[in-house]
Amino acid sequence: MQNSIYTIARIAEILNADAKLIDSEVVIQYLVIDSRSVLVPENSIFFALAAHRDGHEFIKDAYAKEIRNFVITDEKYIAQYPDCNFLKVEDALEALQQLAIEHREQFNLKTIGITGSNGKTIVKEWLYQLLAADYNIVKSPKSYNSQIGVPLSVWQIDADHTLGIFEAGISAINEMESLAKIIRPEIGILTNIGEAHAEGFSSKKEKLTEKLKLFKDSELFIYSPEYVGEVSAKDLPGKKQFSWSSKQTADLQVIAVEPIEGNCYLRAIYQNREIECLLPFKDKASIENGMICWATLLALGYTPEQADLRLEKLSHVSMRLELKNGINQCSIIDDSYSADISSLAIALDFLNQQNQHARKTVILSELFETGRDDLDLYTEIAELLLQKKVNRLIGIGTHIARFADLFKFETQFFDDTNAFVEAFPGLQFSHETILVKGARRFEFGRISKLLTQKIHDTVLEIDLNAMVGNLQFYRSKIKPGVKIMAMVKAFSYGSGSFEIANLLQFHKVDYLAVAYADEGIALRKAGITLPIMVMSPEESAFEAIIKHQLEPEIYSVDILNSFINALSDYDFDYPIHIKIDSGMHRLGFDQSEISTLTGLLKDNAKVKVQSIFSHLVASGEAEHDGFTQQQIVRFNTMAQQLLEVLTYKPLLHIANTSGISRWPEGQMDMVRLGIGLYGFDSALPHNRGLQTVMVLKTTVSQVKTLEPGETVGYSRKGVMPHGGKIATVKIGYADGYSRAFGNGVGKMLINGNLVPTIGSICMDMTMLDITGIDVKAGDEAIVFNKEHTIMQLASDVNTIPYEILTNISQRVKRVYFYE
Ligand SMILES: *Cc1c(COP(=O)(O)O)cnc(C)c1O
Repeated sequence: MQNSIYTIARIAEILNADAKLIDSEVVIQYLVIDSRSVLVPENSIFFALAAHRDGHEFIKDAYAKEIRNFVITDEKYIAQYPDCNFLKVEDALEALQQLAIEHREQFNLKTIGITGSNGKTIVKEWLYQLLAADYNIVKSPKSYNSQIGVPLSVWQIDADHTLGIFEAGISAINEMESLAKIIRPEIGILTNIGEAHAEGFSSKKEKLTEKLKLFKDSELFIYSPEYVGEVSAKDLPGKKQFSWSSKQTADLQVIAVEPIEGNCYLRAIYQNREIECLLPFKDKASIENGMICWATLLALGYTPEQADLRLEKLSHVSMRLELKNGINQCSIIDDSYSADISSLAIALDFLNQQNQHARKTVILSELFETGRDDLDLYTEIAELLLQKKVNRLIGIGTHIARFADLFKFETQFFDDTNAFVEAFPGLQFSHETILVKGARRFEFGRISKLLTQKIHDTVLEIDLNAMVGNLQFYRSKIKPGVKIMAMVKAFSYGSGSFEIANLLQFHKVDYLAVAYADEGIALRKAGITLPIMVMSPEESAFEAIIKHQLEPEIYSVDILNSFINALSDYDFDYPIHIKIDSGMHRLGFDQSEISTLTGLLKDNAKVKVQSIFSHLVASGEAEHDGFTQQQIVRFNTMAQQLLEVLTYKPLLHIANTSGISRWPEGQMDMVRLGIGLYGFDSALPHNRGLQTVMVLKTTVSQVKTLEPGETVGYSRKGVMPHGGKIATVKIGYADGYSRAFGNGVGKMLINGNLVPTIGSICMDMTMLDITGIDVKAGDEAIVFNKEHTIMQLASDVNTIPYEILTNISQRVKRVYFYE
């Protein structure tokens, strides 16, 4: 049922906006803040928010996607798009929030608001699992908890919902008040408060006080006294309170936490009696989140017995989609986290970002959008799939099959997962991208296993969100209008090919650069349309370069001449990039060759100099700042000589990653972002501000106990005078784990312990000294991650992160995560 109909005229009224309407009766259902994620354009309104970039810049994109309704702050766009509805407001973010406030006010549902330093999303997802039997729940998608995420979450409420669970996250003072007005939580949960006081606050007390503002008008406040010490009891929010703690007296006082196998058995005192529950987790964070959920169930009036039954069934929340290689050249997107329509929309967006195959298949279980009319639900799903250009739907479940007629493309239906698995050998899957998305009870893990190439037990995990975070970090450092060329040479510094290029293209970098033509060709074949510069264009590859519209770096007179010769009679203005040697002395034109070059370029219609660039040799090192300055001056002088003979203006660029961080005057027209994207910048102490993108994991194959005096591995290099225990893991120098890590130089993390290598590294295996540590075959060994960093590995063997990354061999499977 579609309730609360908003026409654009009604929205104009709510926002008190200066409206210029072509059609005032248009119904608005979708709020769009990102021009790349548009569902139903005719019922969408685009908010030009000022974030990393001015949202007005994306009006053009949104228009191209057929959006015709806009909230703006700059009225100059009104004249440019005469067929659109425009609402001009003072502040687009405030307008978005105002609309959410108005929407929220129309509904009388029960609401739970969650804030705290950690665990908000897990607690929200778990409460959803625990309460779904009794309520029709609307919740924040993923971790939508910001000034933008909260209004979008609340906008989903409709008349059928009986409970809303929303999270709120803040990073500075004075942010919570607006979120409190939008959520208006009847029940408040404070998960915890971290010790470190974040940048936006002057003290922990200030942070706590700000967070508690969410619950100012709440009926019930659920918290732990361990986290609210700075506030006196009488100042705690909520008409009623319910406390939990494992350290002090509380309404729910946990007195014992006993791990049993993968589970954890909790006992507590509640209403003067001892109660218990079993959590299907044993890690510290899950135990705390479990206690919060336990307290919430009791505070909501569930009996300890009911609570125990429900908590025991909690399941792991993974909010990440996984992209991996599948059988017959397929790409598999594995998403069995939840099967609701908002997560489906997110997964489809990600599917749509993939360009590597023209064909897109979705394997979908029936969805349980509690309380919603099925016809309405499946109509929306059908529209979504069509809009995201899905070619084939494989529906699983008897229910979804009933709506087969709604899907106007190739479909196939199976009664249940078993039926699919049985039919699998006869089904065709090849050269396509397949989204596997199913409600938990359908056990779609079985399906993704069938479709996925066997993953041997060493995996490089790439966090695509972290990479986007790093891109945004550098975007925030460059001046408006400066373009970004993303360096994806050497398999994107080891992280992947089209997988990374798809992401960068989706996030609108301006250029890509590869080292060799074949890397560029692979990207073109995978559907990448961004301009691509090739830094070492071999003469033998010129034909392929031209065929695939790759743009060569020209670094000598000879190359220029032979490239011009390779162009056909019909080619003109073919984009090339001129490399200047300003001090690196690797490739490029010297000052002495510039006049020959200008002679060749002047009035040459066959090629067009797209850019002129040079490379800094030590942009991250203060001791060479004089030289860097000199390089910039030399480059500018030589570039100037070229500009004088050209009738157009090429882009100038010189800054690599640490050049961006340390040399604002080196930004020129474009920057070339390399290692920073992957999480490293020698100009930033401890890479501050960057996120860890890659984690390399392997597995223990066998554990052995050795007698005193026995040795380990080739040439008896590993000696164990006192005997001990070793674990053999499935990674060796053929995987890129250098022999230099042998004999205790390198370390890996197993079950939280850092353990040294023992003996020489073998081609496919490494032995670790695990004496005194509980390890068994099948356990995970982490080669590097956020804690045991690539920086550490690089320093262990006297190299740089670049080399550690690019050494990881193609044999190691890459798995991509995206939230
Ligand atoms: C690799 C490379 C870069 C990127 O350098 P980072 O230090 O990784 O940012 C920039 N320009 C050229 C010419 C390169 O070869």
